Amino acid sequence: MMTPQQYEESLRKLNLEVYMFGKRVENVVDDPIIRPSMNAVAKTYEMALRPEYEDIMTATSHITGKRINRFTHIHQNVDDLVKKSKMGRLMGRATGCCFQRCVGMDALNALSIVTYDIDKTKGTDYNQRFLKYLAFVQEHDLVCDGAMTDPKGNRSLPPHQQADPDLFLHVVEERKDGIVVRGAKAHQTGAVNSHEIIVMPTIAMRAEDQDYAVSFALPSDAKGIVYVMGRQSCDTRKLEAGQLDRGNPFFGGHEALVVFDNVFVPWQRIFMYKEYEFAGSLVENFASYHRQSYACKVGVGDVLIGAAQTAAEYNGAERASHVKDKIIEMNHLNETLYCGCISCASEGHQEPSGTYVVDKLLANVHKQNVTRFPYEIARLAQDIAGGLMVTMPAEEDFKSPATGKWLDKYYAGNCDVPTLNRMRILRLIENLTLGTAAVGYLTESMHGAGSPQAQRIMIARLANMAEKKKAAKKLSGIDE
Ligand code: SF4
Ligand code: FE
Repeated sequence: MMTPQQYEESLRKLNLEVYMFGKRVENVVDDPIIRPSMNAVAKTYEMALRPEYEDIMTATSHITGKRINRFTHIHQNVDDLVKKSKMGRLMGRATGCCFQRCVGMDALNALSIVTYDIDKTKGTDYNQRFLKYLAFVQEHDLVCDGAMTDPKGNRSLPPHQQADPDLFLHVVEERKDGIVVRGAKAHQTGAVNSHEIIVMPTIAMRAEDQDYAVSFALPSDAKGIVYVMGRQSCDTRKLEAGQLDRGNPFFGGHEALVVFDNVFVPWQRIFMYKEYEFAGSLVENFASYHRQSYACKVGVGDVLIGAAQTAAEYNGAERASHVKDKIIEMNHLNETLYCGCISCASEGHQEPSGTYVVDKLLANVHKQNVTRFPYEIARLAQDIAGGLMVTMPAEEDFKSPATGKWLDKYYAGNCDVPTLNRMRILRLIENLTLGTAAVGYLTESMHGAGSPQAQRIMIARLANMAEKKKAAKKLSGIDE
């Protein structure tokens, strides 16, 4: 396993084509806007080396028997699935943001299932290719970006009917040594902190869309891959000298648009090629794993609840009964989320490939809760924090000889607490509910791993209605 320092050095060796604010980013690793997101991924390496977290953060590879980072592991039993959920909460609490590495883990696990299933029906050898690739990822302890979301263009049209055929990523040329692909993947979490990109189709497909039914892995700096960084609310605060106004000066996340401009993929890195009948299964398996991964938000919720309680104490308001009740409600919602990610793992089962997968109904129910509860937890945190969270002056004004003394005097809460500490905790709440981290805690909770309607469709499909009706009819004496 790599150390955080080795991870950082490994990123320096990549030659990524990254753009931000209209310019090419020459030094991605040290860029002040990107750096906190790299720190968050580096934390997945650091935590794996700490003996106290070994059980949660590492696993034994089922292909080599070696100790590996759990983020590169294929789940071998229910215990692995449960530990994955616990790892998400642990990491969310340690970083207070999206730590980005789960998408690759979820892509690897979904491919371990689907490559096997394709081979069984089609007589192909995708699973062997995949296992070789997996061994490479585990051996080098790599970060993989799991790239699923296409831009999608007109949502009412399938891929092959789009006015621009590139709005879904597709094969444009077949060669002896591989294929050439064109298209893009949007909202790619942690893209420029990744060594590898694993591409998957974004929806179930029919025969007419077979050129779009393609899955493969590429080095993140393969020729023709271009990254355009997404903005985040308050992102340029990271360019400021001080730390206070950033809320969480240590960690963050990022998303990017990843363009594949006629990119070559060798055959040994292709895991699905025109087997359109399996595109839906790959999407469904990946989505279920990733909906479980939203255990991360429970950890971030821990940070926000801790911040709200601290803010209440700094204000001298912690004994007010309505404040206590709001904290209870926040914990109730957060632990309900935890129930969801633990239960879908505990109810997991083994697929023919040997890989364990979560209970898909429960994973979708969990993610549906994630689209709602963090918003309510954030609302309650803002309620407790008070308006100062959004009206407080800049760190410079606290340092200024002209204004510092006034701010220190008039923004004091509980006199035992330095005014600046009160400001720090309010800025953290701002960061989590309105600033850069709100991308991860709120909007990503809404749309990441599929927007709310995607889960409702799965809940409708997976809830066993026949069994429910049977139970009702039996107890009401209906004999049909
Ligand atoms: Fe992982 Fe959560 Fe970020 Fe998704 S949103 S990559 S599950 S930390
Ligand atoms: Fe996400």
